[in-house]
Formats: sequence, C-alpha cells, structure tokens
Amino acid sequence: MSQNKGFYITTPIYYVNDIPHIGHAYTTVAADILARYMRLKGRKVFFLTGTDEHGQKVEKAACERGRAPKEHADIMVENFKALWNELNISNDAFIRTTDEEHKKVVSAILQKLYDKGEIEKRKYCGMYCTPCERFWTAKDLIEGKCPDCGREVECIEEENYFFLMSRYQSSLIDYIEKNPGYILPETRKNEVLSFLKTKPLGDLCISRPRQRLQWGIPLPFDENYTTYVWFDALVNYYSALNYLAPKDIEWWPPDHHLIGKDILITHAVYWSTMLMALEMPLPKNIFAHGWWTVQGAKMSKSLGNVVNPYEVIKKYGVDAFRYFLFREVSFGLDGDFSEEAIIRRINNDLANDLGNLVNRFLVMNEKYMNGQIKPTKAVDELSEKLKNLIQEIDNENLWNEFKFNIILEKIWEVISLTNNYIAKTEPWRVAKENSERLPQILFNIWNALRIITAFLYPFMPQTSLKIWNALGLSSFKIDCNILNWDIEIKEVRTEKIEQIFPRIENKSEEKIKESKMEELISIEDFARIKLKVGKVIEAEKLKGSEKLIKLIVDIGEKRQIVAGIGKSYSPEELVGRSIVIVSNLKPAKLMGVESQGMLLAATGSDGTISILTVDREVNPGASIK
Ligand SMILES: [Zn+2]
Repeated sequence: MSQNKGFYITTPIYYVNDIPHIGHAYTTVAADILARYMRLKGRKVFFLTGTDEHGQKVEKAACERGRAPKEHADIMVENFKALWNELNISNDAFIRTTDEEHKKVVSAILQKLYDKGEIEKRKYCGMYCTPCERFWTAKDLIEGKCPDCGREVECIEEENYFFLMSRYQSSLIDYIEKNPGYILPETRKNEVLSFLKTKPLGDLCISRPRQRLQWGIPLPFDENYTTYVWFDALVNYYSALNYLAPKDIEWWPPDHHLIGKDILITHAVYWSTMLMALEMPLPKNIFAHGWWTVQGAKMSKSLGNVVNPYEVIKKYGVDAFRYFLFREVSFGLDGDFSEEAIIRRINNDLANDLGNLVNRFLVMNEKYMNGQIKPTKAVDELSEKLKNLIQEIDNENLWNEFKFNIILEKIWEVISLTNNYIAKTEPWRVAKENSERLPQILFNIWNALRIITAFLYPFMPQTSLKIWNALGLSSFKIDCNILNWDIEIKEVRTEKIEQIFPRIENKSEEKIKESKMEELISIEDFARIKLKVGKVIEAEKLKGSEKLIKLIVDIGEKRQIVAGIGKSYSPEELVGRSIVIVSNLKPAKLMGVESQGMLLAATGSDGTISILTVDREVNPGASIK
C-alpha cells in the first residue's frame, strides 16, 4: 500500500426524508470519534457523511407538500446538517446524491458495467412493495406481505435491468472467509456468510421504469429507466472522492464503512459485488453496529418512544450524550437507552471521577503553586503505571475494531489511579511540610490529566478543550505527541474553571433520600442513649475466650464491662485508657459474666478493632453529646 494512503471513513448516507434520531447520531458520532483519533495520530483523514435523496418516497413526500423533489430535499437535508453541527461532528465532506458530480459518476459506473456485460435486461415478475421500493420473490414474503414492513405487495410484471450479482457469490464467500476483518463484528460476518451459503444469490434489479419513478438518475444506456436508489446510493462512497476529497492523497479503499445492522446485506453483498465487477479493491472493513432500545422496547414512531437527540443534548449536554452512547454498551451490540442510565453515568463517571479530579487539581495547584507547573523528570509509581496504561489505550486495533467501551474503561482506570495518587500523596499535607516534593506531585497529576484529556478528546471534544486550556495548554495542539507521558514543555500556568459536569439530581435519587429520611432519628432519640467517658482501671481476658476482655471502668462509679476486643488489644495496654461507654444499656451476660454497658469501637476493613477515645484528658463520667 502506498505511503500516501489517507484514512477514509464513512457513515451511511441517510435517507433525507427521515427525521434524525438516536440511531443516526450513534453511527455518525462513532465515525467522528475514530476520525478524531486518527487525526490525533497524525493521519490524513477523510470522513464522509451525507444524504440519500432519490427515490419514490422523496418524490411522494415532496408532491404531498406541493414541492419539487429537489426543493423538498434541500429543506430536509438541513435537519441532518444541523444535528451534526450540534453534535460537533468533524466530517470533512457532506455528499448529497443529488449533486451533479455524483450523478455523473453513477452514470459512468453503470455504463462501464453495461459495457463489460455485467448488466442485462430481463422480463421480471415480482412482488413489489411501494413504501420499500423493493421487489420480492414469492418465498421472501411473510404471509403474502412485505418481509421488511409487513405491508401489502403488488404483483408487477415488467422489463428491467439486472446487475448480474449471482456471478460473484462464490468469490464473495471466499473473500469474506480469507479476510476475517472485512465484516465486523464476528456475528455479522456469520450472518452474511449464512445468507450467501444457504441459497443461490439472485441478480439485483437496478432499474425502475421511468413512468413509475422519475426522481432519480436515468440509466445512461436506456433513458426509459431510472436507477434503483440503492445502486445510486452505494456509489456515493466512491463518487465523493472524485469531487469532495483532497486530490493529493490516495483514499481508496475505504478503511471503514460504518453502518447499522439493518443495512448489512446491501453493503456486504450488493456493494461488495459491485466493486468486484468493477475490479476495484474492496473496503478494508464494514462494521455493523447494534440498535438502541428504550427501556427495553424497540424504538418506533408508533410507540412514540423515539429518542430525539436534540432533547437529550439540551438536557444533559452534547459531551455527556456522546460519552454515554459509547460507554454504556459495546458498539456491536444492542443498547438500552434510559434517562436513569445517562444520569448515573454523568454523576458517577463525569461529575465524581473526572470532574472532581480536574477541579481538585486546579484548586490545589492554584493554592500551593500559584497556578505554575514546572516539568520535572521525576519518576514515581504513578508515571510508571500510567505509561503502561497509555500504551494499552493507544492501541490502534482497539480503535479500529470500535472497542470504544473498553478504551473508555481504560481511560477511567487512569482517572481512578490519579485520584488514588492524590489520596495517597496528600499534597495538602506535603504543602504544610514545605517539601520540595510538592511540585513533582502536582506535575505528575497535571501530566496524567493532560494524557486523560487528549484521549478523551475524540469522545468529548468540547469538554476536553475546556480542560486542555485550564491545564495551560491552549498554545499546544492536541496531537499524537501529546499521547506520550514524556513531554518537552517550558513552564505553563493552570487556571481554575467551573465544575465541568455538575451532578444531576434525579427522581430516583430523591426516592433514595426519602427512604433515608425514614431511618433518621431525632435529637430526642439520640438523647436517650447515655454516652460517658470511662477510665479503664482493670482489664483481664475471660477464661476460655480469645476475644472477650473483662474491664473494670470508672465512669464516676465502677462498672464491669465485657468487650470483644481481645484479638486487637492486650489487657495491659487498655489499663489507664479513657474510653467511650454506653452507660444505660441493659446488662447482658457474656460467657456467664455480666456486662453493665458497652464500649464503642470501630472495625477496620481487615477486622482490626480500634476503641474510641477522647482527644484531651477529661474526668471519668463526663457525658458525651
Ligand atoms: Zn415493504
């Protein structure tokens, strides 16, 4: 492959009649994440999205509104462009199948295939579904109806042109088996293989008589026919390179066609065989992702549960939405959307883990270092651990296989390591000691945050830039050099910012609060418990027990108390100590010995018991409130 091969990634071109929903957003944000990462890595990237604008449905919708089809498409296309803008999609081009240049390429390809004998005119009798614009064979039908939409089909006999797709059945099977990364995930590959292996592949009808469909590209070799929309649409991946991509770079074959699983066969079979007939290299990968359900139910207009991306963005912010889509489920599988889930992600991951880390650091660095960061070469446990994690995250295979949830998990490992590092090094304590180690610790935290921010950039560009600037890096571009732990920089200054992800209070949390209310006690309840300071006068192990110690305690009067602290204290070390006693507890017998009260103690995670004591000397019997 040429050194000058750019990274080329596509989304499907969306049907211009549709109102963009979470499914469109999902595919497009995924492509955006990978495009941004490849740019970070210094690759030349061409990221293409666009709209599919021909066909009967557009013609019909336009007619109903008293518009010309192109006029209708011009209005509808803005829905997609506006959403991509809102979602910070960094596409390099936007193709419309009504572009004159696209139409020219489709014509040229049709002519070429026709001249090569790959297209043939045949009489055809088929069951036709008008909404789906598809012919079906009798055995495709489910109870006599369209297998895609379940509507009535018409029997139509007519002459049409066919692309002789069946010729490529065995070479396509071969190709898929020899190139395991061609169709991903694995389950989708198996789906395509079983489709190809279980029945003979038919030929593809690629025309519609002009009198039935005007809105489309005429066949160059027979103007009585219009090109079938799918054939027209699939060519976009190639035609765009002719007039929308930079010319100085080789883009073909595409690195990824990103699609939803509903259009797997059109891409994996129609498009692949079209390219084989054209003797063009096949794309490196077709990746079909899963679908979103809403609280367990399939999203549909009739159920009225279609997730409107604008509403989610408005409520939670664009980056929280982008993050949620890829953290919550593995990209190939189906995911379930719920507001509870997105709120949980915002509160736990974004506000607590990431947001607190950023703010704690910025506040400390301001307080102790006046906002200065001085690079040091100091190596400690944090830098060592993080260097390994950075390599794991910066693994192109993970990115190219769209394992975004795993990448995010690893980034969150870095975040939690850094949070733990702060807890362990206690910069606030080091600051009091006026130690030289403080600038090193703060530099290490800053450096970890720099890497975290760079890796988060593909997922949350807006938030990352905010943190990036707060770290004092506004004069540095986020690029591949940034992904290394070691960085050559002079002094920079950090700046405090507002909380990047404020916590969201939601109803279920209010419920938790309510249930906690029930467990709360009043001051009167508390006053019923008499707590007193007691001085240990005598202590001895109870015979026959390892755990129990019998104490004689002075609480203004002498009390005998039996306590299960023998594994953590010897009797000798207890004598003379001031401890805290519940003095009005009903007496109880332990191993036959009466205990007239209870001492207070805490149990550590390893089971070690620590008794409660008082900070200064007080008289035995002093009451505790
Ligand atoms: Zn149908």
